[in-house]
Amino acid sequence: MSKTVLGDVREVKLAVELITLGARLQFLEAEVSLSRERLIKLYKELKGVSPPKGLLPYATEWYTTWLANIHSSMFYNIYRFMVDQAREEKLGATIKAYRMYLEQVAAAEGEAVLDFTRAAMLVKFFDSGMLELAPCTRCAGLFVGHAHDTRKGYVCVLCRPPSRAGRGKTPKAATIHAPAQATSLLSYASPFPVDAHPFLQ
Ligand SMILES: [Zn+2]
Repeated sequence: MSKTVLGDVREVKLAVELITLGARLQFLEAEVSLSRERLIKLYKELKGVSPPKGLLPYATEWYTTWLANIHSSMFYNIYRFMVDQAREEKLGATIKAYRMYLEQVAAAEGEAVLDFTRAAMLVKFFDSGMLELAPCTRCAGLFVGHAHDTRKGYVCVLCRPPSRAGRGKTPKAATIHAPAQATSLLSYASPFPVDAHPFLQ
C-alpha cells in the first residue's frame, strides 16, 4: 500500500491501465502495490466480472509456434526498442510496446494473437534467459526462440512458413496468415538502423 495519496492514485491508475489491457490478477498483485481486495474490486468495476482464477502461463513452447512467433517477435522487438532507445523501465515499456503492438495489428486489420498476459510473460522469459532473439539468416529479422537452440542457418517463420500457413481454419486469425501481410507487420519492429526507425521520424 502506498504511503501517500498521490502514490496511491498512481497505483490505482496503473492497475486500471493493466486491467484494461487484460492483465490477470496474479500479474497485478506482483506489479501494483494495492491490496488484493482493492485489485479485485477494481477489476470487477472495470470488467463487470470477477477476475478469472488460474495461474499465469509458464510454457515457452507457445511462443515458437508459427503465428504466435510472428506476433511475439513483433512485440518483443518493439519492447526492446522501448527499453534500449526510449529508455523506458520494464513495466512501462511492456505497456507501451503492447499498445503499439495492438495498433500495428489493428492497422493491418489483423487479430491480436498475443494477449497482454502472454506479452508480459514473454518479457519475464527473456529476463530469466529461457528465450532469446535469433537472427534469421535470410531476412536478418530478429525472432523469438528458445535459448541455447542451435542458431546455425536459422531461417525464420516468415521466410519459411509452414505449408498450411494461409489456410488456417479459423477465419479471424486467417487475416494475418498471409506471409506478405505478416512481413509488413514485422518490418515495423525489425532491427532497422536507429536513425531509420519509424519511431524516430
Ligand atoms: Zn527471415
